[in-house]
Amino acid sequence: MQFLKTTTNKYLILVSVLGFFIFIAFNDFQIHTKYEWIITFALAGAILLLNHYPILLPPKGNSLSMDSSIYLASLFLFGLDLTLAVLLINSILFAFTQRKIVWWKHIFNFSSYVLMIAISYYIYTSIGGSIGSIHINNSVPYLVSLLTYFALNVIFVGLFFILAAAESFESVFKELIKEAISPYFSTLMLSLVLAILMNSEKLFGLFLFTCIAFLLSLAFKQHFHLFKKISEKANKDFLTGLNNHGYFKEILEKEVAAAKETDQSLCVVLLDIDDFKKYNDLYGHVQGDHLLQEFGALLKTASEAENYIVSRYGGEEFSILMPNTNLHKANLFMNELRKKTNDTYYKGVENLPYGCLSFSAGIAECEKETYNISELLNKADQAMYAAKDQGKNLVQLYDQNFEYSAYRSLSIEKELEEAEQQLRIFLSKDVYTYRHSKRVYQYAVDFSRLLSLSDHERKTLILGAIIHDIGKIEIPRDILNKKGKLEPHEWEMMKKHVTWGKEIISTNKKLEDLVPLVELHHERYDGNGYPYGLKGKSIPKLARILCIIDSFDAMTTERPYQKTKTFEEAIIELRTCSGKQFDPQFVEPFIDMVKQLNNSGVSQETKQLVANH
Ligand code: GH3
Ligand code: MG
Ligand code: MG
Repeated sequence: MQFLKTTTNKYLILVSVLGFFIFIAFNDFQIHTKYEWIITFALAGAILLLNHYPILLPPKGNSLSMDSSIYLASLFLFGLDLTLAVLLINSILFAFTQRKIVWWKHIFNFSSYVLMIAISYYIYTSIGGSIGSIHINNSVPYLVSLLTYFALNVIFVGLFFILAAAESFESVFKELIKEAISPYFSTLMLSLVLAILMNSEKLFGLFLFTCIAFLLSLAFKQHFHLFKKISEKANKDFLTGLNNHGYFKEILEKEVAAAKETDQSLCVVLLDIDDFKKYNDLYGHVQGDHLLQEFGALLKTASEAENYIVSRYGGEEFSILMPNTNLHKANLFMNELRKKTNDTYYKGVENLPYGCLSFSAGIAECEKETYNISELLNKADQAMYAAKDQGKNLVQLYDQNFEYSAYRSLSIEKELEEAEQQLRIFLSKDVYTYRHSKRVYQYAVDFSRLLSLSDHERKTLILGAIIHDIGKIEIPRDILNKKGKLEPHEWEMMKKHVTWGKEIISTNKKLEDLVPLVELHHERYDGNGYPYGLKGKSIPKLARILCIIDSFDAMTTERPYQKTKTFEEAIIELRTCSGKQFDPQFVEPFIDMVKQLNNSGVSQETKQLVANH
């Protein structure tokens, strides 16, 4: 027989046969009076009602049903025959109302209840428990029979899980006992409460008990739904309705553990909308928010079709978690999604560089050796930035061939080389500006390591530092090299270098991110700088940083019109001007760095540059 082949089925059949046997062999079917029949049906009705309205308990919604309280109360008051009759009626009604549950589960349920009730009953009577009334003298038999009832329940359910779901003995019983101990204890108390009520007030007692349990069920249901709603809210991103960053990491942690345990593949994608700042600048934040919502919805639809989990990682970055998916499949999916994003029209995207909405994405696959989720996220992040570096609107895999540092240094090196080419002109015209720019560049490299800047910001700061004075090319040599103080009109011309610098680099689209640094590095935090007199945070962050670096180098190196300061004097000057010329939040970190460089030795390159001066 096919059905008998598995151990689970053998177990189900054994319990079922045993249950039926006991039901027939140990049952005298002794229900004589009309009153007993009324009690029997009333108890069965109460169980049916309360099974329909269980008490839902957070967090998982495990339910505490009152049926065991009623069976136990019935056992103590009316004995085995009546209780088994209640069980039979109830099981038949239950089978009719719950047809979706497979038939063998109904049989198994009925039989295990027969065994629990009958064995508890015989233990109860054999240690002196009396049937018919509730009395304190019966305390020990109550307790023992209840423990028996619950021990059997745990064994029947536990064995089923161990056999059917191949779970370990220890984990199943630990979990069952942990979860069941408090509901079981409540059931014990409630069975005695019901027995006392029925002992004194018969059907009215049962009615009272059922009403209270029913109302409790409604109250707990509300409570549980509220709990679910609140916990869902805590896990969702307010703007897009997707999972938020924190919840994403929680799921990722679980998925990575599961993937490693089961040897299934798992991919993580980080994607960042291209040029989103430009979209915000063009249309404002409100429309930017709309775009994020609409794009979030597109991601959700596409991901859910594949059972992928999508979250808002932060700002205009999203993540997709892909269980059971290898790099190849993830790549196909992401490129489809990329095309779909390009082909979907969103208001105003025609003015973005690609003429459509686009994103850059990095994909990393979880491997056996993957140490933790940070490592995995870091890989996806690196791949994403590599996609940006290669021109955006791209999907980059973190696979064996991926060499991120090569991408990065290559791209910045190329741009640095270009910037330096432009700077070389100063070698003949104004060697001071040439050397100053190189030192400022080196300070920017060192300082940017200490600040929490994105890679993009870091790169912009470094390139901006080397090229910030490019506008001085336009200034006549005699003014640039003048020994002594500049005349007012000469000073006015000198100040124009920031605007000319902006014009020069604006001709190269690749350098457009550097414009704010070139144009605004002489703005002062207190609003007294040039060319616009911008104040505080309205000066871009990187320009505020560059202003400190630039000024520090100017102070510490000899200039035709000004005395050189020592590092210590320049530090005092930085502090004096903190909050006036300089953004205070960057002054102290910069001073720390300068002190460190001074102690441990300025980084090799800076040392050399200062020495060359
Ligand atoms: P890239 O192609 O290099 O990714 O350039 P980008 O402009 O997309 O990236 P950048 O990091 O320079 O700017 C991201 C922008 O996203 C800046 C920030 O104002 C915007 N942003 C972040 N969160 C939100 C948000 O919730 N709503 C709106 N409207 N904008 C946001
Ligand atoms: Mg971003
Ligand atoms: Mg972006």
